[in-house]
Amino acid sequence: MTRPAGSSKGSPAPEGERTYLLGGNWKANGTLASVRALIAEFNAAGPIPANAEVVIGAPFIHIPECLSTLRSDIEIAAQNCSLTGMGAYTGETCASQLRDMGVTWVILGHSERREGFGMAGEDSELVAKKTKLAIDEGLKVMFCIGEKKEERENGTTMDVCASQMKPLADILSKEDWAKVSIAYEPVWAIGTGLTATPEMAQDTHSSIRQWVSDNVGADVAAAVRIQYGGSMNGANAAGLLAMADIDGGLIGGSSLKMDFFTCINSVP
Ligand code: PEP
Repeated sequence: MTRPAGSSKGSPAPEGERTYLLGGNWKANGTLASVRALIAEFNAAGPIPANAEVVIGAPFIHIPECLSTLRSDIEIAAQNCSLTGMGAYTGETCASQLRDMGVTWVILGHSERREGFGMAGEDSELVAKKTKLAIDEGLKVMFCIGEKKEERENGTTMDVCASQMKPLADILSKEDWAKVSIAYEPVWAIGTGLTATPEMAQDTHSSIRQWVSDNVGADVAAAVRIQYGGSMNGANAAGLLAMADIDGGLIGGSSLKMDFFTCINSVP
C-alpha cells in the first residue's frame, strides 16, 4: 500500500531558524480499529504548516499500520528501543529493526519509562546509552527530561534536568546532536491536565538551552529543538508555541484525537 502524500501550507522555517517539531505519543492506547479510524481522520485533516515537522509515536504493534497507511508527511516514531542490537533478547525491539521497517524517530527516556510502572525504571545513563545506539543506527531521538512536582516546588528543576542531560552530553558527539530533540516534560503536567504556563515553560526551556550552550556548545544550543510536553492541547498550544525557546510539543492525550491537528496548526 502507498501512503497518501498529505500537503503543506505556508513557508518552511527560514535558514538558521528551527523547524517546529510536533510529536504525538499514543502510549499503549488504541485497537487496530481505533488506530485505523484515527489515521483516516489525520489523512483527511488538510495541510501541515511547512515550518512544522510532525511525528507520531505509535505502539510497536501499530507501527506497520502507520507505515503503510498514514499520510507520508507524518513520520513514525517508536516509544522505546532496546539497548541491544539484534540477537537473543526476548521481548526487545532494537533500533536497527525499527530503522529497517522505515521508522525514523524514537522517543527515549519518557518519565513513564524512567518511573518503570512498578518495575525497574530507566536511569539517565541507560537513556543516554540507548540514545547513542539509536543515533548510530540512523534514528532521530526525542529525548525526554523533566522534574517531578516536589522538585519543581523545592526549586531543583534545573538540577534535575541537568542531571538527566549530563550523561547524554558525555556520550554524544557534536554531530549526533543534530539527531536529537529535547522534550522537556514536567512530570506533574503529564496526563494531569495541569500545564506549565507559557512563561514558566519558556523559563525552563531557556535554562535548558543555556545548559546545552555551556556544556555542549553554543552552535548546538542554537540549533537543538526543545519541545514542551505536559497536557498540551488545542486550547493552550498557541500560547506555548509562541515562546522563543519552545520549538514544538510532545503531546499525549491530545494526539489521540483531531485536537492534535489544532496543536499542529497553532505553530506561529
Ligand atoms: C506525554 O505522553 O509525553 C504527554 C505529554 O502526555 P499528555 O499530553 O497527555 O500530558
